[in-house]
Amino acid sequence: MTTDTNYDLIIVGAGMVGASLAIALKNSGLRIAVIEAIATNSLQQPSYDERGIALAYGSQRIFETMGIWHQLAKHSTAISHIHVSDRGHFGVTRLSAVDEQVSALGQVTTARAMGQVLNSALSSQDNLSLICPASVRSLQQHKDVVELELNTNQTLTTKLLVAADGGQSTIRHLLKMGALEHNYQQTAITANITTERPHNGTAFERFTDTGPIALLPMSDNRCSLVWTVTTGDEVALLNASEQDFLNQLQDRFGYRLGKFLRVGQRHHYPLKLMQADQAVQQRIVLIGNAAHSLHPIAGQGFNLGLRDVAALADVLVNTNPNKDCGDARLLHDYQQWRLQDQDNVIEATSNLVSFFSNNNPLLGHCRSVALSIIDAFPPAKHWLAQKSMGLDRKLPRLARGIPL
Ligand SMILES: Cc1cc2nc3c(=O)[nH]c(=O)nc-3n(C[C@H](O)[C@H](O)[C@H](O)COP(=O)(O)OP(=O)(O)OC[C@H]3O[C@@H](n4cnc5c(N)ncnc54)[C@H](O)[C@@H]3O)c2cc1C
Repeated sequence: MTTDTNYDLIIVGAGMVGASLAIALKNSGLRIAVIEAIATNSLQQPSYDERGIALAYGSQRIFETMGIWHQLAKHSTAISHIHVSDRGHFGVTRLSAVDEQVSALGQVTTARAMGQVLNSALSSQDNLSLICPASVRSLQQHKDVVELELNTNQTLTTKLLVAADGGQSTIRHLLKMGALEHNYQQTAITANITTERPHNGTAFERFTDTGPIALLPMSDNRCSLVWTVTTGDEVALLNASEQDFLNQLQDRFGYRLGKFLRVGQRHHYPLKLMQADQAVQQRIVLIGNAAHSLHPIAGQGFNLGLRDVAALADVLVNTNPNKDCGDARLLHDYQQWRLQDQDNVIEATSNLVSFFSNNNPLLGHCRSVALSIIDAFPPAKHWLAQKSMGLDRKLPRLARGIPL
């Protein structure tokens, strides 16, 4: 076998999840390469666009322990309240940071800001080679290593390969790995909205008969909008004049934030569920969107991916330094740890989409009752808040404030 370079760990994809894993392992002693297809800081980088990202409290803790939260905090707005409602029905659920005895239920940042912070941390990391722009042309799994051939004609070997190359993962395709896929026939429109009244740190999730609307608090009295519509309906909204767009949004959302005054650039994302048949295969682990792409209805996709990162880093750092980091038992431990959280979040997200994207009047009544019961019953509220903060399961060390 002719090899130019041998690594302990190669991460394919330096998006939000792949970059976070590399940084989480900065003190691991592992020799790491990160392969990224798109030039760093390019405006074409698909992971780091203008969309707002709601970070759960548990994700904030992970970034704090990794030592990069102070950088991200400069670009983040705290969520002090969450307000969930269903248009045309009476039920409301309200969560509050004070009730949960935390400083914030979560934070809102932008994918772009996260890219800046993650890229800057990657560039100063000693145990890491960033190979960019480059992508994987072929791979072969041997007993002791995985061998990769890149489009730059380099050949690399690694004891462990982590695929963090997004929903269209090349690694998953090269492995011919199957996946459960479901097209929701829905499209998310994102934009920043300036509102008449201050959001006061409230994140709004409003379910409507034409799709859910999330308005997340941001700086300068702006909110980050994620408006889900039936695929096809986005065309008119994307092409509508600013005032027409705001009027239609106002009609769907109501006046809880007063009048909508301005809308920034609009973007759209077709939505589908994808869950790879396996997240672990001989010396290979799939994480983040490469393993599971979710509907953004509950803002859980990256949070779930970051929990993959924290658990995988925990397992890798926990091993004896002389042990093979692609060892099958190690990867089995990781998979066992993560499976339940992944399945639960995927199932809960899909249920939420069907339960709330349904015009059946009886279901509408059930939704109102469910929202009201949760609101009136503190243990149910606490359970929901713990789930949305990502604190309802066995936590990796990074999420408990213990550095690796
Ligand atoms: C509208 C919308 C709103 C969202 N809001 C939230 C939210 O509020 N909270 C939340 O937690 N999540 C949210 N998400 C989900 C979140 O954006 C994703 O979970 C997250 O981007 C996944 O990151 P990733 O690094 O796994 O994949 P990606 O972001 O897709 O990154 C993949 C990376 O791999 C690179 N790559 C791809 N192919 C190759 C290759 N062959 N070789 C090398 N590199 C390659 C890409 O260039 C990219 O850098 C939202 C998603 C959408 C669409």
